[in-house]
Order: sequence, then structure tokens, then C-alpha cells
Amino acid sequence: MRAGDLSALSPEYVRRIAPYVPGKPVEELAREYGLAEKDIVKLASNENPRGPSPHVRQAIVEAVAGITRYPDGNGFALKTALATRFGVEREQVVLGNGSNDILELVTQAFLRPGDEAVYSQHAFAVYPLATQARGAIGVAVPARELGHDLDAMRAAITPRTRIVFVANPNNPTGTWLSPGAMKSFVASVPQDVLIVLDEAYNEYLAPTHRSDTASWIANHPNLVISRTFSKAYGLAGLRVGYGLMDVSVADMLNRVRQPFNVNSVAQAAALAALADA
Ligand SMILES: *Cc1c(COP(=O)(O)O)cnc(C)c1O
Repeated sequence: MRAGDLSALSPEYVRRIAPYVPGKPVEELAREYGLAEKDIVKLASNENPRGPSPHVRQAIVEAVAGITRYPDGNGFALKTALATRFGVEREQVVLGNGSNDILELVTQAFLRPGDEAVYSQHAFAVYPLATQARGAIGVAVPARELGHDLDAMRAAITPRTRIVFVANPNNPTGTWLSPGAMKSFVASVPQDVLIVLDEAYNEYLAPTHRSDTASWIANHPNLVISRTFSKAYGLAGLRVGYGLMDVSVADMLNRVRQPFNVNSVAQAAALAALADA
């Protein structure tokens, strides 16, 4: 340790975190290899190559006029629109600085050091990161044909498990679990274990492959659904996502989130995107 290095003051579980390696920005790749930016096709982060619609771009321009003010910390308009869309109460919607924020908030509100979180091998890289940042123990269940082995994940749940993460469809392996398989899994998980169902790619599924998972929350209050405006809606750079959950779960997430975690331009863009099918 060099003189003045204060990293040892940080908890051991933070020091053990292997930092997330993001997809390299196009500008950086162009610099490194002497390429023209226009010749580079970036596939690493599943961004939407078309970007947002003209209607959404217009909403962004209009929202810029108001950026001297703090955003609506309760996200009233966007939460109302999402609640209507999914047939839930507004109090069941939590907005996030990207859906990544929702994943972080669930771990922050529900994991104590030593608790366990279960996820699949080859699932989204943020589940182990968010788990470890709380001093909790990540349990990676071996994948089956690169996808989630739901039976094995169910069997990995112990009395110490507080959260089980499921990405459907999954990133990075692109596997998918049918609504029937997902529904029986949700029903099989003990009520005192939160199921975080990460549906970042839900909008890409054929309508016949989708199911109204939000309607399951009424019978399964331990189910948390996370969605994002980053992928299908083409707004990755603005950072806006949301979670749908029981009111009691939302209440805990709202206590640990930053008061203004979703900026005003992002809220306006998301609202316009939702209205522009
Ligand atoms: C991209 C992605 C997210 C989070 O994206 P945000 O930009 O933070 O909303 C979450 N889960 C999966 C599986 C993803 O691929």
C-alpha cells in the first residue's frame, strides 16, 4: 500500500468488488485504432441504433427550458402514466436513474451484510456487483444451456436468501423463460424472498411471448419488476428506468433513493416515449 492510499479504510467487501467494465465508447475506440467514428458499429451495450422518435426529441428540447429547477422528486406525471399503462397504483411505481438504479435500490433497502442473493451464472453483471456492495453473499447458480436453471435457483434459496434475480430475456446470453415457467417459479419462491424480475428487453419479445407480469404482483407481493427506457425506447444516455412492486416494497426503496434520482429531461422524454408507440 503506497503512503496516502486510503483504500484499506473501505470495507473489505467493497475492496473485493471487481469493477464493471462498460462497453468501450465509440470515441475511445476511434482514438485507439485511428478509425473514423462513422465506420464503427457499437454492439457492446445493446443500445438502440435508431434512437428516440422525433416526438421524444421534441419533448427533450422543450424540457431543457426548465433545467434551472430541480426535477419533480416524486415523478408524478411519469408515475401516473406508468401506473395507468400497467394497471397498478401510482404508489407501486419507483423511478430509477436507469433500471440499474432500481436493482441497486432493492439491494440497498433489503440486503444486510451476510444475507444471500441468488442469480444465474451468465446473467446480468450488475446483480453480483450490487449484492457485494452491501456485504451480502452472491450465490451464482450454474446455467442450463446458457440460460437460467429455475429449478436449481429455487433449490439454492436458503433461510439466508433475501433476493433472487431473474433476467428475462437475459443479457448477455439472450435466453428466455416462458410465462408459464416464470409464473410457477414466482409461485414457488417463499414470500419472504424478493424476486427481482429484470425485464429490460421485454419490449423486444413477440406479443405472443409476453405476459402481464405486473398483474402477478397482487398475488405475489414479493415480486419486483424492473423495466427501462434505455433499450427499446433508445434513451440509454438519459438514464431512466422504473420498478413495479408492492407498495410496502416501494416505500423502502423510496427511503434509500436520492430525492432527485431521475432528472427532469429524462422524465419528460420517458413520458413522451411512453405515449409514442
Ligand atoms: C441494459 C440492462 C439493464 C439496465 O439498463 P439501464 O440503462 O440501467 O436501465 C438492466 N438489465 C439488463 C439485463 C440489461 O441488459
